[in-house]
Formats: sequence, C-alpha cells, structure tokens
Amino acid sequence: MSEPADAAQRRAIVPVICYPTDTLPQPDAALMRAATEKLQKRHEVTVPPRDARSFHVKAGQTFRITSIEGPQVGDLNLWNADDLTERFFSGKTRALHGTHVTTGDRLWSSLPYLRPMATIVEDTLGWYGLDAYGGGVHDVIGTRCDPYTHNLLSGGHYHHCCHSNLTRALAEETGLPLAEAEPHIHDVLNVFMCTGFTRDTGQYFMKASPVRPGDHIDFMAEVDLVGALSACPGGDCGATHSSDTAPCFPLLVEVFDSAATPGYTSPPVNGYDKTHGC
Ligand SMILES: [Zn+2]
Repeated sequence: MSEPADAAQRRAIVPVICYPTDTLPQPDAALMRAATEKLQKRHEVTVPPRDARSFHVKAGQTFRITSIEGPQVGDLNLWNADDLTERFFSGKTRALHGTHVTTGDRLWSSLPYLRPMATIVEDTLGWYGLDAYGGGVHDVIGTRCDPYTHNLLSGGHYHHCCHSNLTRALAEETGLPLAEAEPHIHDVLNVFMCTGFTRDTGQYFMKASPVRPGDHIDFMAEVDLVGALSACPGGDCGATHSSDTAPCFPLLVEVFDSAATPGYTSPPVNGYDKTHGC
C-alpha cells in the first residue's frame, strides 16, 4: 500500500508517556529500607527444575527469590491469600512501570482492586538496565510458556511448561481440581528472564539470562499473599523452552520477617466507586 503524502509528518509526532507516574503513590523509602533488614527467616521452599511450588507471605514480610546452582528463569504468580480473584496484573504493571521492573517498582493487582501487592526492595541484577538489543531483566511483557501455544506451533503435549507447573502447584495449594485451578493462573512476572522486542520486526525476543547463582530479587508483601513460582523448562531461556532440552536448575524462595513486618497495614483497594456511569 502506498504511503500518504504526509506520512513522514505523522511518524514524526512526538510520543507522550501513557501513564506519567508523578501522581502514582510511591513506596515509603524508610519502609523499603526496613523491608531489606531481614530479621528472621520464617520458611523456605526450593522449586525443583521444570516444576513449581507455592508459598505464603504475610503483609510486611519480605520474600526473596534466589538463583542457586545455575542460571534459571522463574515465572511468578501472586494472589491475595484471602481472595484468589485479586491477583497480579502484569499488563497494568507494565503500563505503569515499563517492560521490566526493578527496585522501587511495585506489582499491581487486577481490577477492580488495583493496589500494590508487593514492592521490589532489592535486585542484584538492577545494574543490567537495557542492553544494546533493548533487552532487560525481570519482564512483565511475556505471559508464561504454556502447552497450548506449544501445541499450536509445534504440536504435541508437553506437560512441564510454566502454565502447567503453576496449575499443579495451585491445585495442590488449594485442593481445587486441576480444571478449577487452571483459570486462576495468570500472566507472570518473568523473574531473571532477559527479554525485549526486536527493533526491526517488533517481535518478542529472549536471550540467555545474566543471572548467576547468588543473584536474588526481594519483595515486600503489601497484602497477605499466596505465591507460586515455576522454574521454567527454558532454564536461562537462552535457546528454547517448552521442552526438556535446556539445562534447568532449582530456584530458592525464602520468607523473612523484617523490620517492616510488625503491624504492617495493607494499602486500601482502589478508590473508584464502580458505578461505571450508571
Ligand atoms: Zn516457562
């Protein structure tokens, strides 16, 4: 199709930020610091490779996800421990904070709640920034590897995609049958995953994660949470996923009481009146 005469002018229009964050409620700096002072470890869960595990975190506690043994990507789901319908909202988190998240960014919950579920208080990969390919770490652009897309593109039935791993973990956590647990699985925070969009075709790309054993990302829970973390079958996601070919390693989840924990008050749910003009 031919371009209109004013194509260059239309392309030259200067973009504006969709959601300027000047009015976004900011995390309290003193509280964030307090959340990094880990006072006591309450529990830990090791997530086996190509599998997922659930864990509980109380509001004000800090949870840490650590790479152990080898470079490994994790797919994280979060729910309000008292109400599975309030869950992590990857799309709005991306709209507010950008394609990749790090210290000071928050993980927002689904509508109609739209409040912080967790705040990132420490990130040992915070130095990475955006590389020459436009890649960054900890993305909120990918969804999670799943057996349906795999079936669509490659055929077959692979059962250890993050979607299936998270489904099994939530079913085990809640006692729900698999078919009832599955709809609660949602778009993830891709912990440690290095991704971006190609400049020429705009396609979603991944590259080997820069994560190394000992690297970790720490979150302060803003509400009582149930989390589930899958150790992606893609391993460092440098080559492939949705198969058993990539080297895969476990991930460690630790939950701490911190200096922020005692008496922590969760933020209120969103203030919109929900009348939708009626
Ligand atoms: Zn995955």
